[in-house]
Amino acid sequence: MSGYGEVEYKRSRQRERILELMQGTGSHPTADWIYQKLKVEFPHLSMGTVYRNLNILSEQGLIKKIDFGSTFDRFDANIKPHYHFICEVCGAIKDLEIPIDNKLDRKVEETIHMTVKRHRTEFYGICDVCMGKAAREKQ
Ligand code: ZN
Ligand code: MN
Repeated sequence: MSGYGEVEYKRSRQRERILELMQGTGSHPTADWIYQKLKVEFPHLSMGTVYRNLNILSEQGLIKKIDFGSTFDRFDANIKPHYHFICEVCGAIKDLEIPIDNKLDRKVEETIHMTVKRHRTEFYGICDVCMGKAAREKQ
């Protein structure tokens, strides 16, 4: 048998704190962001340890690694299927509250006659913070 639970990891205080931090932010952080937040609390912490723990957490299904083609891996503690909005100016990634459109999967299935299990969609534009900045600079 394989799958979740096959690999058991020793509980780690650092990993628990990483998960707590992840669950307390909606900002889809990088490993470096986590590292900066925790290095005061854990003076011996290294980027490698942060990375390893993030990978373990995603293996355990507690967080997700997201790949939107940016230079650095970003991580998401929201593991339910959801859409994202990505700001093309500052790179912010925000969760969207709109429900996943499962009809789209059926539509694609009917078109290509293959089995569609899920889809992922990102919406690109300018976030509220960057819109505000642009408006202020015009004044
Ligand atoms: Zn922005
Ligand atoms: Mn997300």
